[in-house]
Amino acid sequence: MSAAPRAALLEVRNLRISFGGLAAVRGADLTVYRGETHCLVGESGCGKSVTALAVMGLLARNGRRKADRLAFDGQDLLRLSESRLSKLRGDRMAMIFQEPMTSLNPAYTVGSQMAEVYRRHRGGTRAEALDRAEDLLAKCRVTSPRLRLGQYPHQLSGGLRQRVMIAMALMCDPELLVADEPTTALDVTVQAQILRLLMDLQRDLGLALMLITHDLGVVARMAHRVSVMYAGEVVESAPAAELFGNPTHPYTRGLLACVPVPGKVRRDQPLGSIPGVVPRIGHGFAGCAFRDRCGQARAECARTVPWRTSGEHGYRCILPPGWAGPASLAA
Ligand code: SF4
Repeated sequence: MSAAPRAALLEVRNLRISFGGLAAVRGADLTVYRGETHCLVGESGCGKSVTALAVMGLLARNGRRKADRLAFDGQDLLRLSESRLSKLRGDRMAMIFQEPMTSLNPAYTVGSQMAEVYRRHRGGTRAEALDRAEDLLAKCRVTSPRLRLGQYPHQLSGGLRQRVMIAMALMCDPELLVADEPTTALDVTVQAQILRLLMDLQRDLGLALMLITHDLGVVARMAHRVSVMYAGEVVESAPAAELFGNPTHPYTRGLLACVPVPGKVRRDQPLGSIPGVVPRIGHGFAGCAFRDRCGQARAECARTVPWRTSGEHGYRCILPPGWAGPASLAA
């Protein structure tokens, strides 16, 4: 019997985002399937975070989003009223931010903030909401969860605050969880614990997780599918094993060459680097935006570059599939 087709939960087609008329995202496509982790990778300034904020309807006041399609479980997010969108947000789709201290309200206890999310979307008594909050804190491996409910964010360590943020995001059983660099502000050992926790929750709860990161080691461990962003565009997208085994866009290959892979990179071997920097937002591009940094660039790269696909693997580059052979540094 053939496997059931995967169900798309979030569909983004030709998403454009601008701030004060300056383009930050110039036509991003991605699909997040139910029960899968989709990692969005790229250097800072490539448009990953604003893409997530646009999906959640949380762009800054001067931000504008347009798309051919931006749909959550078939609902057109561009046509939803603000009140219907805020019903969806925090309920069926939730977000975890980079720095929990700026996302948690310092004036309210953890319990009050978690209970408010639940009661706003699901109703019920404060006692019921606090019971649920305690259960979720325990699930997120917060020690003494009942005690934590009465504490304020400043009384918690960075790792505990991030666990609280994750537990709060799960209060209403979301189907989609968007996590924007959720471990950036944490030290390395806590990072590993939080990522392990997210992996376990994603698997156990069947969440669709859209994870934004610039850490390819994290991607290799967690992703079912990966989209690589550069200068406001998705330049390559593929199932994780395919992307790591057969990276095709020169930018993806450059990113992979920067990662030390045990057993594949000698101790005395210098790591790769990508020359230059990501262009600033609003920069007008003719042709491939990576052209100034690409060792494979040629005259035709200055013209419109097609999106090529082979099965579930797609990339935006003039080079043919397999142009460089398999990745020597693939994780
Ligand atoms: S289109 Fe040209 S410049 Fe852009 S990544 Fe491909 S080879 Fe490099």
